[in-house]
Amino acid sequence: MERVDCVVIGAGVVGLALARHLALKGREVVVLEAEDRIGTGISSRNSEVIHAGIYYPTGSLKARLCVAGNRTLYAYCAARQVAHRRCGKLIVATDGDQVEALHHLKAKAEANGVGDLRWLSAAEALDLEPRLRCMAALLSPSTGIVDSHGLMRALCMDAEAAGAAVVLKSPVLGGRSTPAGLEVAVGGGDPMTLLAEQVYNCAGLGAQAVAQSFEGIRPEAVPPRHLSKGNYYSLAGPAPFSRLVYPIPAQGALGVHLTLDLAGQARFGPDVEWIDQESYEVDPRRADSFYAEVRKYWPGLPDGALQPAYAGIRPKLHGPGETAPDFLIQREADHGLPGLVNLFGIESPGLTACLALAEEAAL
Ligand SMILES: Cc1cc2nc3c(=O)[nH]c(=O)nc-3n(C[C@H](O)[C@H](O)[C@H](O)COP(=O)(O)OP(=O)(O)OC[C@H]3O[C@@H](n4cnc5c(N)ncnc54)[C@H](O)[C@@H]3O)c2cc1C
Repeated sequence: MERVDCVVIGAGVVGLALARHLALKGREVVVLEAEDRIGTGISSRNSEVIHAGIYYPTGSLKARLCVAGNRTLYAYCAARQVAHRRCGKLIVATDGDQVEALHHLKAKAEANGVGDLRWLSAAEALDLEPRLRCMAALLSPSTGIVDSHGLMRALCMDAEAAGAAVVLKSPVLGGRSTPAGLEVAVGGGDPMTLLAEQVYNCAGLGAQAVAQSFEGIRPEAVPPRHLSKGNYYSLAGPAPFSRLVYPIPAQGALGVHLTLDLAGQARFGPDVEWIDQESYEVDPRRADSFYAEVRKYWPGLPDGALQPAYAGIRPKLHGPGETAPDFLIQREADHGLPGLVNLFGIESPGLTACLALAEEAAL
C-alpha cells in the first residue's frame, strides 16, 4: 500500500488550490479525481465572477475568505498570467424603495472589509453605463471576471511543479481510519489503496457521498445535500454594458443579473431551480420570467434575445426558504476521524475564495 502525506479528493478549483498550498509547504500530495479531466464539476459551470465580499454575513467564512480571496486571486492571476479583468460591477436600485436596501448593502460591505464601494446617483451611473435605468447604484471596482479553466490549469501546474501527483479517472470509493493513518480505497481502471496522514474531501457535489463512505464517521456530522440549479441565458448580440450589473438581492438570491465573459459576451442568470437529481439541461421557457426582471434595469432588452446557455448546480446545505449556512469545514472534532477534513457547501464565492479556502482548510 502506498503511503503519502496528503490525499486531496476532487480536482476542482478548491481541491487544486489546496493541493498547491500543501505541496508548496513541502507535503507529499496525491489528488484523486473521478473524471478524466480536472475541473469538470461546479468549477466549470459558474459565473466566473471575482466577488468583492459584499453580501455575506459579517464574520462568516464566506465574507472573510471572499475578501481575502479576492486580493490573493487578483495577485495570483497577475503573477501566473491567468486571464482576468477587473471590470467592476454596479448594484442597482430600480425603484425608490430599494435605495434604502442599497445603503444597507454598502454598510454591510464596509463591515466585511470592502471599503471601495462608491455610491452613484442615477446620473453618475448613466454616465458610466448609458443604457442603464436606475434610481441609484453602488459601484464595486474590485469585482471582476476570471477564466476559471485557466485558473485551474495554473493551480494544477503549480501543484505538480511542487511535487503533487494529480491522478485522473480515480474515484474514491471509501475509507477508514487505522492506527497508521487513513486508508483510502480508489476505484477506476487501476484500483489501489492509499494510506494518508491527512485526507481533504473537496468533492463538491460528491462531498457528502465521499464522507459517508468513510467507516466510523459520525453519520449525524454529514449534512444533507440540496441541489440548487442555476440556469444561464446568453444575449444574442453585443453586450449593453461594460460592467457587471446586479439588481438588489432578494430572498437569498442575487437576482437575475448580467455577467460578462472575457470575450465580452453578456449572459443573464443564474436563476434558482431546486432539483432532486443532477441535470444540466436548460429549459428555454424559464427565460420568459427573465425579461421583466432584466427590463427593470435595462429597458432596451429586445424580445427573444435570450438563448439557453448552460447551467450549474450549487451544493447547498439548506432547502428552499431556509437561510443559507456558511461554508462548512469539518475536522476530527466534528466528525470523529483523525486527519480527515471535509469541505461542504462550497457554493459561491468558492471560486473567488479558493486560495484563501486552501489556507483555511489545511491542517
Ligand atoms: C451557478 C453557479 C454560479 C457560481 N458563480 C460563482 C462566481 O461567479 N464566483 C465565485 O466565486 N463562485 C461562484 N460559484 C461557486 C464556485 O463555482 C464553487 O464554489 C467552486 O467551483 C467549487 O469548487 P469545488 O472544487 O469545491 O467543486 P468542483 O469543481 O465540483 O470539484 C469537485 C471535484 O470532485 C470530483 N469528485 C466528486 N466525487 C469524487 C470521488 N468520489 N472521487 C474523486 N473525485 C470526486 C468531481 O469530479 C469534481 O471534479 C458558482 C457556483 C454555481 C453553481
